[in-house]
Amino acid sequence: MLLKSNINSLKSLVKKQNVLSEIEERYCYAQDSTNSKTYGKVPEAVVFVESIEDVQKVLKFANSRKIPVISRGAGTNMVGACVCPKGGIVLNFSKMNKILDFNPENMTMRVQPGVVLGDIKKMADGEGLFYPPDPSNYSVSTIGGSIAQSSGGALAFKYGTTKDYILNLTVVLADGSVMKLGAGTIKDAVGYHLNQLIIGSEGTLAVVVEAELKLIPKPEASRVVMAYFDCIEDAIKGVNNVIKDRIFPSALEFMDKNAITTVEKFKPCGLNTEKEAVLIAELDGLESSMESQINCMQQAFLRAGASDLSVASTDNDKEAIWTARRASFAATAKLAPDVVTDDIIVPRAALAKMVMGCREICDKYGLTVCIVGHVGDGNIHPQVALNLDNDEEFKKYIRAKSEMYQLAVSLGGTISAEHGVGLEKISYIESTIDIKALEYMKEIKKMFDPNNILNPDKIFKL
Ligand SMILES: Cc1cc2nc3c(=O)[nH]c(=O)nc-3n(C[C@H](O)[C@H](O)[C@H](O)COP(=O)(O)OP(=O)(O)OC[C@H]3O[C@@H](n4cnc5c(N)ncnc54)[C@H](O)[C@@H]3O)c2cc1C
Repeated sequence: MLLKSNINSLKSLVKKQNVLSEIEERYCYAQDSTNSKTYGKVPEAVVFVESIEDVQKVLKFANSRKIPVISRGAGTNMVGACVCPKGGIVLNFSKMNKILDFNPENMTMRVQPGVVLGDIKKMADGEGLFYPPDPSNYSVSTIGGSIAQSSGGALAFKYGTTKDYILNLTVVLADGSVMKLGAGTIKDAVGYHLNQLIIGSEGTLAVVVEAELKLIPKPEASRVVMAYFDCIEDAIKGVNNVIKDRIFPSALEFMDKNAITTVEKFKPCGLNTEKEAVLIAELDGLESSMESQINCMQQAFLRAGASDLSVASTDNDKEAIWTARRASFAATAKLAPDVVTDDIIVPRAALAKMVMGCREICDKYGLTVCIVGHVGDGNIHPQVALNLDNDEEFKKYIRAKSEMYQLAVSLGGTISAEHGVGLEKISYIESTIDIKALEYMKEIKKMFDPNNILNPDKIFKL
């Protein structure tokens, strides 16, 4: 519990109006986008930081008193990564939301952590450049959250994830000191890549206060190919044919029948609700390559038994398809009082077993599941609609979740591809990573944050 005197000290360190201490103001910070019964501790203070110096002052203060500090972007993560199990101070980055420098010649952009990804993409696009990482909610999520989660999205198949687009970082350490990482050049072979350690560390090692991003040239043209299938196995065969034929789409996405019908009911957009699965592939490159790429893609899908194929060429048509795909979470949320989405990845060869297995596990427990995924990567998101206040249903969900993770690990996969561990998956981490590696992670955490103030009890407990 933060004492009143601590709140007063915080108000003297940063602008007074940037410290929220009333319960009505702090209440919503007990939650993020994760649906869970178990969270709900309200932080004692929320500080809107405006500068690197603000972050330094708050961390120095908190470290000397061993008060937890939880960084927060848009709060859209799905694993309880920015809730506050021990209370403490939430750092809100919405006032550090400036693009500090855009250099089209170097293809770089320097940003503050609170910048929304959609704004980065838009500014790059204006100069014919491209920032590929695209969590489906990029119109609201921040670059700070994206770096801390190493978020991915549909385009990871061809373009990788956030970790591939960070040239350098400025971070504030637990004691309030500043550390600069990386060289700002495309390649850097000097010393350990500590910036890669910070990326994906869920705010547990340091607070990101500035980042220099790598941009790439925007592909000249793109098309979206859709193909429906009468069974899930055929759809996965379609994915494997694409790889066999050495086609390299920027995105290769999947929706099962439940997801298709749920989205169509939520936002009618002409999806074929008679079919068991749909694959959505985006092809990009030179305009002159489009026709042959589309032909190859369609042949790969047809050989797997696809029917009802279509191609979207205009920006409006392409956007309509992606909007439908991105709407799956919101649409599933309409089916029951709550929705929980998961994030599992397996080697692509085991994908059919994983998808069918998830379906069977959820059927066994009578749970409604819509399965979508970035199947080019072997990554699926089972979205379960349920009532978390129904104890019986909640228990079934916990059993189903645990069985889905066991299945993923037994197939050579793991329990998160892009959403992270947060609080949600702590109890499963030992089943998926090497115990020695976990010991090293704990030692690294202790070195960066000896007083365990930075987002404590996330990823693992010390
Ligand atoms: C509808 C929906 C769709 C999604 N789709 C995808 C998807 O396709 N792919 C994907 O990868 N994810 C996806 N996500 C998950 C999530 O949106 C992303 O991980 C996103 O990048 C989180 O950004 P945020 O600003 O909301 O971060 P938050 O949720 O606020 O924070 C996430 C983590 O980052 C830490 N953090 C925030 N700012 C900083 C900072 N400055 N320094 C250090 N740590 C910090 C927090 O402490 C926390 O641990 C989706 C979420 C939703 C709700």
